[in-house]
Amino acid sequence: MTDADQYERIGSALDRFQEAHFWIHNMEQCYHRADQIRWFLNVFLKALDEVPQLVSMSLQNANGFAPWFREQKELLKADPLISTLSKTRDFVVHQNMLLPSSAGSVGITELRGMKLGLQLPIHPLEDSQDALIRTARVMKEHEDILGLITPDEDSLPAVHREWQLDDFDEELVDLCARAWLRMGQTLTEVMRWQGVEPLPLSLDCRHGRGDYRMFMMSREKLMELI
Ligand SMILES: [Zn+2]
Repeated sequence: MTDADQYERIGSALDRFQEAHFWIHNMEQCYHRADQIRWFLNVFLKALDEVPQLVSMSLQNANGFAPWFREQKELLKADPLISTLSKTRDFVVHQNMLLPSSAGSVGITELRGMKLGLQLPIHPLEDSQDALIRTARVMKEHEDILGLITPDEDSLPAVHREWQLDDFDEELVDLCARAWLRMGQTLTEVMRWQGVEPLPLSLDCRHGRGDYRMFMMSREKLMELI
């Protein structure tokens, strides 16, 4: 069997794994849309969870694979991150809507972090834009202590948001990225077991990218909406 055949054999697992990668970027892109990020989290969890099953099915007839891979699955199960995400996935399937927790800072930015912000709980079903509008309305009625609607050429009204799952301190998309890389280690082991050079599995495309957590809007537009 050629190397290409070996990769092809676990093609469905590799495909599902790359699908999970794609959902990570979608979570970044929809970070400020409460429903959308939640739906992308759901499909990410689903795709990631299915990778080991697909590997099992693809190589079930390979001599000696099943007992070896059982151990790999035990290792995955022993990983607190992977096992918690897998349980989270079960919860979504069988019980209820998963609402990650959400906090944020509403204020103004000069494009390098928040210049002035107020830490606020933002409901997990509220879009960042709505949180900004809601806060701006309060400022308009009382006093614009954050400078949200006071003209200033150097800054923009903004929300710096952060999603988390209850069991972890890490930010949600970073957490998903770490889980993806952990699953990638298992796939790497599988390819080694097959005797082929493991395919490079990295998330270098995300490097240094925390900018998705910032939502900005022009004052003009904000004024129209409040
Ligand atoms: Zn990527």
